[in-house]
Amino acid sequence: MLVTHLECLRCGNHYSMDPRAYLCPRCGTGGERADPGILDVHYDYVAARRSLPFLARNDVFRYMPLLPVRGAAPVLPAGATPLVPAPKLAQRLGLAALYLKDETRNPTRCLKDRATAIGATLALESGATDVYCASAGNAAISLAGFAAHLGLRCHVFVPSYASPTRLDWLNRFGAQTHVSSGNYDQAFAEAEQTGTENRWYSRNCAFNPFLVEGKKTCGLETAEQLPGAAADLVIAPVGDGCTLAAIGKGFREALELGIARRLPRLVGVQAEGVQPMVSRYRGGVPAPDAETAASSIAVRRPRNALRLLGELRASHGEMLAVPDAAIAAAQQRLAEDGGIVAEFTSAVTLAGLEALAARESLAGKTAVLVITGGRLD
Ligand SMILES: [Zn+2]
Repeated sequence: MLVTHLECLRCGNHYSMDPRAYLCPRCGTGGERADPGILDVHYDYVAARRSLPFLARNDVFRYMPLLPVRGAAPVLPAGATPLVPAPKLAQRLGLAALYLKDETRNPTRCLKDRATAIGATLALESGATDVYCASAGNAAISLAGFAAHLGLRCHVFVPSYASPTRLDWLNRFGAQTHVSSGNYDQAFAEAEQTGTENRWYSRNCAFNPFLVEGKKTCGLETAEQLPGAAADLVIAPVGDGCTLAAIGKGFREALELGIARRLPRLVGVQAEGVQPMVSRYRGGVPAPDAETAASSIAVRRPRNALRLLGELRASHGEMLAVPDAAIAAAQQRLAEDGGIVAEFTSAVTLAGLEALAARESLAGKTAVLVITGGRLD
């Protein structure tokens, strides 16, 4: 394993590798008004470069030198999803090229499977019998599927508004589902309390520092797949901040290893109803919370904000908010002109790109939309 150390994104303290490491002991959960002390995994990139080419595998373990695990575990195969050209959409927006990173092809139809593959591997390495997470749906379904396949007991905490479709998936995978009386933030608090008390293995991406390492393989993979090894824009939905930040880290590592030619500008998109990261990145006054149908990203207290802010600054990125009506229209256009059924939350990517195109010329640019999931509620 080429992990050199873990570093707190808040105080900068260093810690040695431990598969059960969680939050920085000094910063903890941070409290109401402060960010939690989330750890970031660092590697020996000189050794990683020497270990190239990557393994000839069609899953996340292809990137083994850049993963915090001892070896590939017999988990469901996540990753190796296609980067699909969308010429009709590109033409409509005046782009040179547009690609859809089709994460709906993962085992449980969602990008979250990349994180779960690493979380499940670490759960096995640390001898856990029970795993848990809080989620509006996709992360919980992903964990439930991987746990079912491995024979681990799975406890999931979902908000009151989790859709019947998502509850049905959890049920089919045999997960023990705790439906909170409140929103995602409340389900998260309940998961943390029960999971910590029982010493279950956590798949809470916001706090577990290793799950981002699974998600970053989406960035590494995209960098390898892009013609010319470069894109101008990479656009993803933003809830807790983990996914886009992880993709940014993947691109930085691809650049470090000479796989990407340059860093793309990261563009994070939130629904207008819940957009705390937009005001935080732009330094404006937070917009009051309202409703949105994009439930997977309706996170009022983003826990991985520091990580995302860092990646946005490193890429001279952008945060945008789009109304639900624009998301619904974009979801339809993705099907009609892109040939992909994206879930509502994933359609914020096209709505965001359309908002950007209305503001600035995208002529000659190459963009990637990360279609994180395809589950329709
Ligand atoms: Zn700290």
